[in-house]
Amino acid sequence: MTIKDFKTYILDMETVRPHQLSMTTITSQAIIVGRAIDEDGTEGWSEVANIGGIAYGEQTPEAIKVNIDSYLKDLVIGREASDFNRIMWEINHFAKGNNYSKAVVEGALIDLAARQKNVPAYELLGGKIHQSIPLAWTLASGNTERDIEEAKHLLEIRRHKIFKLKIGKGDPDENVEHVRKIIEAVGEQAKITVDINQAWDEDTSVRCIKKLEEYGVNMIEQPVPVWNYEAMSRLTERFDVPIMADESSTYVNDVFRIAKNRAGNSIALKPCKHGGLLETKKVAGIAEGAGLGLYGGTMIESSLGSAMALSVYSTIHDFEFGTELFGQFLYKDRITVEELEVKDFELVVPDGPGFGLTVDIEKVKKYAREFY
Ligand SMILES: [Mg+2]
Repeated sequence: MTIKDFKTYILDMETVRPHQLSMTTITSQAIIVGRAIDEDGTEGWSEVANIGGIAYGEQTPEAIKVNIDSYLKDLVIGREASDFNRIMWEINHFAKGNNYSKAVVEGALIDLAARQKNVPAYELLGGKIHQSIPLAWTLASGNTERDIEEAKHLLEIRRHKIFKLKIGKGDPDENVEHVRKIIEAVGEQAKITVDINQAWDEDTSVRCIKKLEEYGVNMIEQPVPVWNYEAMSRLTERFDVPIMADESSTYVNDVFRIAKNRAGNSIALKPCKHGGLLETKKVAGIAEGAGLGLYGGTMIESSLGSAMALSVYSTIHDFEFGTELFGQFLYKDRITVEELEVKDFELVVPDGPGFGLTVDIEKVKKYAREFY
């Protein structure tokens, strides 16, 4: 059954609290949703987000949409969704970069192909290995006391026992002190990791990571700018605490470079960053061959985009650092009927057709800047 239409929506979703990163603070985020419709009326849905918009990455929500509508859509209309591997190979030859746009297109094709066959999407991606993956939460309210309260509550309700602290914004030494206080409060019951989001130079990184290692931090994510692979290598060599590459591990060739130069000993996967679920599997394969630890990252997609990422994460070997697909809990509302289930600190892989969640079209209409 061929595809007769492909629509792309930008939705503005408010968060339950401010979410502070090194480059911006999020109170509302645009998510980009793809919708592939076949001749029978069966639909495939996908979602990406770009955490913090233009302050974080080069692809804005508006650019993601316009590049799909103007260029990629035509390569999809009239095709079979089950042909997604060949279609994406063609798109990758046709269009440079634009990974977020590619991930939207590919995600909707895979969801549609799976729904046409009435099987979970993970079956088209090799089959699931994991039934659930440990789920991290990001403490990023910008206030130490509030973060501690939040962490204690989340431990009590058995939702998270891995906490990532976003510490790139503001004075590095004060932020290291903030981490110490949180470890003192909940470090016995939880693993604490930190994400600097490229905000430090190498000297600051050496000074601060020394202390963070001593305090018992479990992982340091992207301390230096994306381009500084050499500093990542030196920091990885110097410290015992794992150093994770996130912004610097985008394309398969980036990850090969990281593996070759040990510019980090673990990497964060994110389907929209890599350009889709198939590319995510390639990246994970390089990581496996190089013995790099894996983290199932998020750009803070809502429930739909989290389910899309989870479908591929469920098929990938091991997640040393679990996953951070917590987006559905950061938004005030969701655009799917169901929410992803969390059981005993782990995110459960849904077994329904496609990505396993049902899109609530009324919610899409409510939050879309323009619905058509
Ligand atoms: Mg990160």
